[in-house]
Amino acid sequence: MSSVSNLQRVRQIFEEEAERHGLNGVLGVAAFNSVLRALMPVQRRRLEELCGGELPALLEGGSVISIAYAYPEHAIDVIALKKGEDYDKDSWNRYAAEYKRLNWALNATAERLAEETGGVAIPATMTGVAEKVEHVEDFYARVVSHRVAAEQSGVGWRGKNELIVNPRFSCAIRLASVVTALPLERTLPLEGGCGACRACLDACPFLRFKERLDNYREQCRRYIVHLGLDAEVCGKCIKACYRDGIYRDQFRL
Ligand code: SF4
Ligand code: SF4
Repeated sequence: MSSVSNLQRVRQIFEEEAERHGLNGVLGVAAFNSVLRALMPVQRRRLEELCGGELPALLEGGSVISIAYAYPEHAIDVIALKKGEDYDKDSWNRYAAEYKRLNWALNATAERLAEETGGVAIPATMTGVAEKVEHVEDFYARVVSHRVAAEQSGVGWRGKNELIVNPRFSCAIRLASVVTALPLERTLPLEGGCGACRACLDACPFLRFKERLDNYREQCRRYIVHLGLDAEVCGKCIKACYRDGIYRDQFRL
């Protein structure tokens, strides 16, 4: 089969999976070599480990399929609501529950795509890590960032909050990837960007002052641990992007 018809088949499987999970999503394909080169060294090694015996074939012209599922609107609405002076953590936990459901659905979809393409599934970034590591730097060696593949394959652009922003779903998406040596047509990076928008920066002081902080991700990790929701999430910058980002007047879920 040609790389074009292989991509059609991959899209079809993804659509079936999205429907099965009752989710909306988006898929793109990037070159394996180019994703590998763009990862930080510690993550490059992790990806090479995960590829195992498939690595030589992948280096010969393999691909990374980037998949994203979007949060339903009701899950975004409950982020950081107030109850009196405090946050309403019971409702905020409904967002945490959707985070887990999206991860589960992504992992199941990535497994199926890996089976169908003879590839390897790289699961959604694992939960339960932020609390266990001493510093966010320790986190990098344990996971493979899906953002590089998402960016290179046109799933979205890198937003000012460092998340992937999709024109339809904003950054209210979760990501996973599949690496495969099957010939696949590539999809192109997006040309859009955040422009003058700064909704996420207004919503979070760590993002707003990220240039001045040693590593704003560490402040973010500590804040998430301190919040103590049912999953390691916060989501205020996601809600800001979804509600007030540059695509707020366009199509929403
Ligand atoms: S998840 Fe929360 S703390 Fe972390 S960058 Fe976004 S808004 Fe800030
Ligand atoms: S809120 Fe605006 S600046 Fe921030 S990531 Fe979304 S589009 Fe970009």
